[in-house]
Formats: sequence, structure tokens, C-alpha cells
Amino acid sequence: MSRKLILVVIDGLTPEVFEHAVERRTAPTLAALHDAGTYGRALSTFPSLTPVCMATLATGAHPDVHGIPHLVWYHRREQRLVEYGSSFGAMRAAGTRRTIRDAIVEMNAHHLSRDAVTVFESLEDAGLTTAAVNTPCYRGRTRHLPTVPGLVRPVDGPRRFFYFSLFESDVTGAPLAVRTRSGGSIDAYAAAVGRWLVTRDGFDFLFYYLPDYDYASHALGPGGADEALRRSDQAVGALIEAAGGLDDFLERYAVVVCSDHGQTPVDRVIRLQDAVNGDAMVTASNRAGMVYTDRPREVAARLAEVDGADVVLFREGEESFALRDGGEARLDPSEDGWQARALRALANPNSGDVIVSAVAGVEFADLAGRHHAGGGSHGSLLDGDSSVPMLVVGGAEPPQDIAGVAPLALAHFGIEAPAYARAA
Ligand SMILES: [Zn+2]
Repeated sequence: MSRKLILVVIDGLTPEVFEHAVERRTAPTLAALHDAGTYGRALSTFPSLTPVCMATLATGAHPDVHGIPHLVWYHRREQRLVEYGSSFGAMRAAGTRRTIRDAIVEMNAHHLSRDAVTVFESLEDAGLTTAAVNTPCYRGRTRHLPTVPGLVRPVDGPRRFFYFSLFESDVTGAPLAVRTRSGGSIDAYAAAVGRWLVTRDGFDFLFYYLPDYDYASHALGPGGADEALRRSDQAVGALIEAAGGLDDFLERYAVVVCSDHGQTPVDRVIRLQDAVNGDAMVTASNRAGMVYTDRPREVAARLAEVDGADVVLFREGEESFALRDGGEARLDPSEDGWQARALRALANPNSGDVIVSAVAGVEFADLAGRHHAGGGSHGSLLDGDSSVPMLVVGGAEPPQDIAGVAPLALAHFGIEAPAYARAA
């Protein structure tokens, strides 16, 4: 009844991989939780990329409300590119202070709209203690100083806040997060912090984010990352061990396990930059691209000719259109499914004037020409990128949309969701 709540997000985990691992018991902790809970498949938001989806998971809002449009986008007011990086590791590789500041500080302090309320803000306002481990979208009510002075400025996060060793609200003895990314050091860091938090009964709500699976799946493809999933499973297992076993754990905690988006295999790379004139700004990464232009219809028509573009979306005045299969359709706000997701992406004031969703197997090269051809990727409107596993242990029905997770967390504590999430 007065159970606490843990939200586990395994980045990039597809329903197929999750269901297989449960069936074959190759992820024993997830399988045990599955046996104790209610499971379904849910839909992600669009573009199905981590910063966009994590903002949706943290706020219950879609991009039209929360304002995060893509991994990389053009900031119209500041007249500059914003690049979050596919992961903390990629961001470090990119190496600029600007990128680090955008991904860690600016996304939460400025890019995330004040119209959206995070689950941390709502719960702390109600007097509860929230905790986040490595969660990219963390905005909260408590000011935290970085552990490395001068790298980034102080940020506002949940009361108990752990972010890739860079912010640590408490001394836990956890090893440094960013040592060997491919070896799963980030999830190992999460496990050490999680163990500490559960042992001390240190929260009412914990957002436990495990990014290593997505990283492995990008490199090896969605079917080839079993070893990484085993490590994510162990990171969840660490919480259960700290509580003294599964029965004691479930007596103390309700649990939600899900991912932020899916992944699909990619074997071909396309440069959207080659299809538009130099005066239009292209921001592309993974399986979604955006173009900032004064001539959206003209640019959209040209992009629709690109072999590899599945759906090309654009706005013209108050109307939104999709070019698909050689035809043009006005997007209908009363339609569910891909049209609703496309409209919410276009309605984001930070989005490009044109948005492109890739066909199966294709990835759009980013500004540095990076891609994951031969591995896995995501970002498109297609099912494989958009479908996620959704497991709830402890009462509530699994939401059918990742935007339903934050309202579920609030309802767990008897708190009303923000108006934008109630209307949905
Ligand atoms: Zn990814």
C-alpha cells in the first residue's frame, strides 16, 4: 500500500529481445519480475531517440509540450546547433565543452520546456524523496554541484542525484562510471549506486536508467547484444539482492520496467545533406532527420525523392502534411497512431520545418558522418524503432504509451498528473 516505486529504463531494449530473454530465462531477474507482474507492449514517441523519449518518460509529455526535438537540432533563437550525442560516451568522444554542457546542463535547465513538469518535481513538491541514477532528463528541486569543478555549472536535480560520476548527492563508494563503455561500466556504476540507495531505504521514487544495452545494440544489432542485456539484468538484480531477495524487494517496492525506444538493424547510410541546398540547415542522426528552411514544401518534395526516406513531414502555416508513397496527405489531429506522433513532433517549436523518417535498414549520417551501418539504430516512425516492452509489477496496468509512465508514477503516490497528461 505504502510501497515505494522503482522505474527501470533499459535503453533501446526491444519487446522481441525482452520477451525472448524472459522465455529462455537468459535474463533471470527480468524473467522473475515478469512472472510477478503484468506485461504488454507500448509505443514510444517520435523521433524515437533517447533525449526525446527520456523527456517523455520523465514528464508524461510528448515533444510538442516538452520541447526536446532530436539528438541534434538547430536553436533558432541562439542561432546555433545543439548536439546531445548518442550517449555519454559518444559525447565524450565528440569532446567539446559545448556538447557536454548542452547534454548535461542546458537540456534540463533551458531546452526542456517549463510547460512540462518532471516526475521529480511533482513528487518532491508533494514532500516525497526522489532519486535518479544516470537519468538524462532529471530536472528537480535540489541544487547540485559537479564533482569535477569547472566542467559544468551546478544543476537542479532530484534530492538524491547520481549522474555518470559527475554529480553525486551522496558518497556511495561506487566506481567511476565512464571507464570501459563496451564493458558495461555505466550499468555497473548504476548497480553500485542502486545497491547503496536500496540498502539505506533512501528514496520514495527511483528512476534507474541503464544505457549500456543501447550502446551494445548499436554496435552489434538488436539481436546480438545478449551479453549486454545480461549485465543490465545484473544491475536490476543488484537492487533485489540489496533488499534481501525478490519477496522482500516486492514487499517494499512496486516496479516498472520499460525501454525508451526500440532498435532495428541498419545496413545503408544516406546523407540528407546532399539532397538539400546549402542554405537549409540539416540536423540528422540515426533514423530521423530534420531540416530548418524557409521553403518547407520545396525541401520536403526534394527529400521525398531520396531513396531511403519513408515519410517526409512538413508544416505550412497552421497545416501539417506528410509525403509518403508518392502521395501527399494532410495530417489529421483526430487520427491515432503515426499521424498523432508525427503531428506532435512537428508541433515542437524546436523541431525543423521538415522532418524525415527513414525506411527500414537505412540510417542518416550525422554532421560528422557517423553512423551504425552493420549494427542497430532507431529514430523512425516504424514499429521496430517505436515499440517497447512495458512491465508493471505491483498493481497498475501497463501503459500503452511511454507518456503514460510518469502519470502512473504520480498515481502510485496519489498525486494528480499535469493537465497535458490527463487529457491524453
Ligand atoms: Zn540509441
